[in-house]
Amino acid sequence: MAARAALMACAALPAASAQAPFTLTAPAPAGFDRALAQRATQEHLTRLINLDTQNPPGNEMRTARYFDSVFAQIPGVERHILESAPGRANFVARLRATRPTRRPLLVMGHMDVVGADTAKWETNPFVATVKDGYLYGRGAIDDKGMLAATVAAMQQLATRRDRLTRDIIFLGTAAEEGGPSIGVDVMVDAHWDLIKDAEFALNEGGRVRVAHGLVRTVNIQTTEKIYYTVEAVATGPSGHGSVPLPDNALAALARAVSRVHAAQPPVRLNETTRLYFTRLAEIEPDALVKGAMLAVGDPAATPGQVNSAAAVLSRDPLYNATLRAGQSLTLINGGIRSNVIPSEGKATFNVRIVPSDDIHAVVAAMQEAGGEPSVRFTLSGEARTAPPVSPVSTALFQAMEAAAKAMEPRTVVVPFMSTGATDGAALRAKGIPTYGILPLPLPMEDELRMHGDNERTPLASLGWAAEYLYRVMVGVN
Ligand SMILES: [Zn+2]
Repeated sequence: MAARAALMACAALPAASAQAPFTLTAPAPAGFDRALAQRATQEHLTRLINLDTQNPPGNEMRTARYFDSVFAQIPGVERHILESAPGRANFVARLRATRPTRRPLLVMGHMDVVGADTAKWETNPFVATVKDGYLYGRGAIDDKGMLAATVAAMQQLATRRDRLTRDIIFLGTAAEEGGPSIGVDVMVDAHWDLIKDAEFALNEGGRVRVAHGLVRTVNIQTTEKIYYTVEAVATGPSGHGSVPLPDNALAALARAVSRVHAAQPPVRLNETTRLYFTRLAEIEPDALVKGAMLAVGDPAATPGQVNSAAAVLSRDPLYNATLRAGQSLTLINGGIRSNVIPSEGKATFNVRIVPSDDIHAVVAAMQEAGGEPSVRFTLSGEARTAPPVSPVSTALFQAMEAAAKAMEPRTVVVPFMSTGATDGAALRAKGIPTYGILPLPLPMEDELRMHGDNERTPLASLGWAAEYLYRVMVGVN
């Protein structure tokens, strides 16, 4: 009760004058001080935003030193600042269980942020500013908010170290937002010993979505699509524009790319995408779409049932991208003069395959769909091995689901496959199941400010995020 009263007092501060974007009626978990978590997360996030780590140049060493000073005050924490380039570093802190009997949980986030178009901001992006119930600043969401909440949760968890059955490893990485491989790659290549015993990991990449004052869905990323570039080159005779030729290379290219664009690669479902549609069906208002979601989510459905359901779902571009490989036509180049028939033309496709796809088979299918002997489809670059999909059966996924349900019983927990790439792929590739979450509950309007102007988080989301992470950390113990 004391914690409840304190939280309400906190929400009444002038700084938090706007309505909280969601309600939280569940009692705080045992041993967790909500007011303290809210204050600590806001304090850490303020300090982190004020340490300018826009990449380039990064300067993540500043943040690593800050974390080092915070963790130095917690008994039972082992710390490492790992310089990977001048001014740049990864950071590891390991909260040791008094008597560990299980393998550690790794919680990671990136310390760099993208730059900001300062003229378009209402506040200085590199000075944390509280305004109308929000904390504004570059990195408030991506990814300093998660780092701040993780540290606040670990500070409270440290007081019950004697009850932990596993160590909690905190990892702050450099250079996630681009640049040289001095972040998670260095951890995996040069400092693997510090994290290799982790049983599973938490990273950014998911979403906690707020709608109509409710934490509506908690989206947990368990796998990622794999990105490739495929080029289509058409060849034919060159000639004078005054004498049309039937085998004009550009015309053949246009026909081939149009056919590939229209072709639908086969549906490829996995454990994550089946559950994704099954869970979304719970909140889908359209009966036809709901039925289709349940059909693709049913492992016993026949290929015919899956294909007709997929045809309904594929009207939505995001669902379509979740169901199968995507092949977007992104570039077309050809010709040199308006009166010259060129002998060559080239088109580029951005291809994103699902982990179970074989890229060579996908390229062969594009060749066949193109249907033009004079147009050759080839893979640009090397084929890569897909990291395994992180299973939803682990104690970590279950703890993430249970924590969400405990805080908001009406929420739907949805595993998903993202179409982009995060640091999580490097860990999955090394055999550590990794789950993407962004624990700050955000309305879509705020979520879309990530990497954009006036990035901000509702103040109330800070305490929620710390509590969620705390519940997850306790839940796997
Ligand atoms: Zn990020």
